[in-house]
Amino acid sequence: MVIKAVCVLKGAGEASGTVFFEQENDSSPVKLTGEIKGLTPGEHGFHVHAFGDNTNGCISAGPHFNPHNKTHAGPTDENRHVGDLGM
Ligand SMILES: [Zn+2]
Repeated sequence: MVIKAVCVLKGAGEASGTVFFEQENDSSPVKLTGEIKGLTPGEHGFHVHAFGDNTNGCISAGPHFNPHNKTHAGPTDENRHVGDLGM
């Protein structure tokens, strides 16, 4: 069964967009597609938070998604939060 999710982005400034998540099954990689507009030039990091509640920003969204109880790191590090997507 294909698992799908969507995240609608609306920043405090000009940034906005939509990111789609799709996974074929539990052991396959998650594919992200979508578009983000209005970011300042340069690299930007991305994180998936534990909860979908963005009513109070990062406080209600909770910590980074981390089901394996690892430490915060970059997307290419072996020991990292699953939600640390990097740039
Ligand atoms: Zn993290």
